[in-house]
Amino acid sequence: MADAVVLIIAAGRGHRAGGGTPKQYRMLAGQTVLRRSCMQFLAHPRIDAVGTVIHPDDHSLYESATAGLGLLPPIDGGDTRLASCRNGLEAIAADPPRRVLLHDAARPLVGRPVIDRVLEALETAPAAIPAIPVSDTLKRADAFDRVTATLPRDGLWRAQTPQGFDYAAILEAYRQTEVTGLTDDAAVAEAAGLPVQLVAGEEANLKITREDDFRRAESLLSGQGDIRVGTGFDIHRFVEGNGLQLCGIWISHDKGVAGHSDADVALHALTDAVLGAVAEADIGTHFPPSDPQWQGADSAMFLSHAASLVAARGGEIAHLDVTLICEAPKIGPHRDAMRARIGEIAGLTLDRVSVKATTAERLGFIGRGDGIAAQAVATVRL
Ligand code: MG
Repeated sequence: MADAVVLIIAAGRGHRAGGGTPKQYRMLAGQTVLRRSCMQFLAHPRIDAVGTVIHPDDHSLYESATAGLGLLPPIDGGDTRLASCRNGLEAIAADPPRRVLLHDAARPLVGRPVIDRVLEALETAPAAIPAIPVSDTLKRADAFDRVTATLPRDGLWRAQTPQGFDYAAILEAYRQTEVTGLTDDAAVAEAAGLPVQLVAGEEANLKITREDDFRRAESLLSGQGDIRVGTGFDIHRFVEGNGLQLCGIWISHDKGVAGHSDADVALHALTDAVLGAVAEADIGTHFPPSDPQWQGADSAMFLSHAASLVAARGGEIAHLDVTLICEAPKIGPHRDAMRARIGEIAGLTLDRVSVKATTAERLGFIGRGDGIAAQAVATVRL
């Protein structure tokens, strides 16, 4: 039995956002809204599977929006949002998870802390939803926008998604409840008498409803992130040998390289750059040279550990750039293989990995061929 499955509800037509295509299939900063929503959950280590509920007319839009993501087979939705949710819940009943999270496809900026808080609350409650206390004063108005009343806002919250539930409990609630007129899944739980726990939502977890919500979401995605840049530098001495490990691949050479691990100077500099971006000290702190367990270690482990520290903070590495400084070996013939290997280790596409090389013009220790140096820059988005 899976522990936590997410169903992304994407069956709506989204007319309020304008444009001919339903909003969940429109582009938001280079990717569809639906793909972004799915990826937020696929990246979460405690989510076992992600499925979607879609409009029966949208299968081709769905296929191109989610290609390669590894989602559960899409489920056809119903006439209303809650009918779609019910279809989704019934579709996974044969292999029921312990917990289910129901999420609006139109909330593509949902962050890991919100998902964490919902999952955590589900350890002690059968239902948990993220919400934000209402801070604006609430007015009621007539058809001519004239205020007819000021409403008390005490105890009022704006509900977001993902809304999390004990799977068996919410399925039973949906089966028992006449859901007409209810606007979220928690309301179905409430109608069935299930206690619903509120956890803190986030303003950034906005629901794309109108055209200007696309602009808000784009500005949140582009400008407002917490961008960190870290640098790393490393030197290793050439010794007798027949090659060296560099950027995670083996390069034949008329020398070898000294070092306590596999002595991959480039991966060491990159690891320090990533650690620097999240202010997590340096490679020697995490993997002390005095510790015999790192003797001959594959330095890929160091870089992937640094990348996991970024992920643990809900961040991502945006770009890695390393410059190798040596008279030999020649780097050019190996550049693309090096970039591919670094990308594989750090979880980046090729266009986000740069490997450059320069010589020291025969000056100093590098110029004499005594050693090889690397300097690296990591850009991290938190
Ligand atoms: Mg080193």
